[in-house]
Amino acid sequence: MTITDYTFEELQNHSFFKNEKPYRIKQIAQWIYTKGVFDFEKMTNLSKEFRNKLKENAKILTIEKTQSVSSKDGTTKFVFKLKDGLFVESVLIPMNEGKITFCISSQVGCAMGCRFCKTATMGFIRNLTPSEIVSQVLLLKSYANLPEKKKFNIVFMGMGEPLHNTENILKAIEILTDKNLMDLSPRRITVSTSGLIEGLKKLAEFPVKVRLAVSLNASNQKQRERIMPITKSNPLNKLIEELKKFPLSNRDRITFEYVLLKDFNDSEEDALRVYDLLNGLKYKINLIPFNPYPGSGFEKPEEKRVLRFQKILTDRNVNAIIRKSKGEDISAACGMLASRKEKENVGE
Ligand code: SAH
Ligand code: SF4
Repeated sequence: MTITDYTFEELQNHSFFKNEKPYRIKQIAQWIYTKGVFDFEKMTNLSKEFRNKLKENAKILTIEKTQSVSSKDGTTKFVFKLKDGLFVESVLIPMNEGKITFCISSQVGCAMGCRFCKTATMGFIRNLTPSEIVSQVLLLKSYANLPEKKKFNIVFMGMGEPLHNTENILKAIEILTDKNLMDLSPRRITVSTSGLIEGLKKLAEFPVKVRLAVSLNASNQKQRERIMPITKSNPLNKLIEELKKFPLSNRDRITFEYVLLKDFNDSEEDALRVYDLLNGLKYKINLIPFNPYPGSGFEKPEEKRVLRFQKILTDRNVNAIIRKSKGEDISAACGMLASRKEKENVGE
């Protein structure tokens, strides 16, 4: 019985808790999700007998920290070990005005094969379970030492393609937003996708309305196919069509991410094509200068070119932000996450 795999309602209906009073589950949930206590022994308002039963038959976390490294900009990367010995990474990112963002993984490796992304070099290994996703959040919250009531943001921008593991990430989102569990506002959660249309449909229908980010990274079909092979089965025009139907509240926008690759997708023509392509959508766009890694075959554009790209969009009233990489010195920046095992394999 892994408690962090279930919503509150599911816990209430679970045979494990059949003979327990309902408020017992609430107490356990408070220890785990509010107080960040992961040791049944320390749940002092539960009877000794019940604590023993829990210790013997129930689990809370399904990952453990093996390593963490902090960047000079305050970003901290965590390497977590899964029960089967695989590793995933999560990143704690301090933002402006005391805000804090947790960047979490949805899979070990990734099947999408984007040419500019280090995670892609691992290939797909496996999906993370809801509990493995929730555990990342619980541990990050605990290591960040946040006050009980302090809110934080979650972005699914670590390893993996969340909409290639839709069922489990949606379950994790249900648990994280459950009023009786983590009670996080859905607006604080962003799912970032390479644009899998089937997954987008499921996300659109899902009752919990989280924010959406789409990794665009190219200005036309041919160009995108070259760096994001999934574009062949999920064509750009179909993707845009789907995004036009995506439910957004009044204030809400879709975030596009656009990794700028020198002399590949960073020209003025590209910027103009992006503008035309996205015209009609409510959106903002994050321009991310490529984070280079050995063997990628791509380079980061010069700053002048990045600014030029941005200006073309801002001149047309598009909210285009250049996203400064955080944690670059510790390989925690976008696209830099690859498992420790993988790093050992490639001898880095
Ligand atoms: N699979 C999801 C979420 C993880 S990737 C997705 O693709 O959206 C998170 C972001 O990092 C994506 O926007 C991706 O385009 C970007 N990214 C990947 N590799 C990068 C690199 N080397 N430099 C800069 N950004 C990168
Ligand atoms: Fe997977 Fe996202 Fe990397 Fe593409 S950019 S390989 S979808 S993690």
